[in-house]
Amino acid sequence: ARKFFVGGNFKANGSLKSIQAIVDNLNNAKLDPNVEVVISPPSLFLLPTAEKVSNNVKVAAQNVFDKPDGAWTGELTVKMLVDHGIEWVILGHSERRTIFKESSEFIADKTKAALDSGLSVILCIGETLEEREAGRTIDVCCSQLQAVVDKISDWSKVVIAYEPVWAIGTGKVATTEQAQDAHGALRKWLAEKISPEVAEATRILYGGSVNEKNCKDLATQPDIDGFLVGGASLKPAFVDIINANL
Ligand code: 13P
Repeated sequence: ARKFFVGGNFKANGSLKSIQAIVDNLNNAKLDPNVEVVISPPSLFLLPTAEKVSNNVKVAAQNVFDKPDGAWTGELTVKMLVDHGIEWVILGHSERRTIFKESSEFIADKTKAALDSGLSVILCIGETLEEREAGRTIDVCCSQLQAVVDKISDWSKVVIAYEPVWAIGTGKVATTEQAQDAHGALRKWLAEKISPEVAEATRILYGGSVNEKNCKDLATQPDIDGFLVGGASLKPAFVDIINANL
């Protein structure tokens, strides 16, 4: 069975004080032991966060560069994350794809670089509203995945996050049926393009306006293996999302 996974993507939010409060809240909470929890603060806060988390919570970077240390002003390398004991990285978030113009190929290169150094990857995919309305949801997500399929062979350290762009930060969560349909189709595609074993073992998270109210219903779905949470991960109610199955 796939272990339920809940990630908190803080994006570019927080201060030393506010992130400490989030970590304190998680450290003091009773978290479902059957859930893997990973929080992702802005890079400047990775180390203080990693030093303070307990309760088996892990820390993820929100991005990483695909090349070795060198003249890449403004970037963090995979080696730096490993050096600091950071075990996870989020890659391919729609904000990286759209605002920072990262291509699926670039994201695949980063995924490969991260996996080659032993990091685990939360790989984000998702369609825009226009693409959904054109009936292209699965095509778009699968082409984003295909770029990665072309470059890696071991999927054991990859978690996929399906995040429809229209649901991110909008308060417009996908319906349980929309999310399950997409997750089911993605798993079927993984079975065909990689293997039935990888499809069965790979966690597919849903992300986009998840909150403590809508999480329970989404969590009942057979192909929804957890969540990647943005705004609500900054609030105490994040604990209720982690505990969606209790
Ligand atoms: P929200 O939960 O704020 O919609 O953000 C989702 C997201 O982008 C997580 O990566």
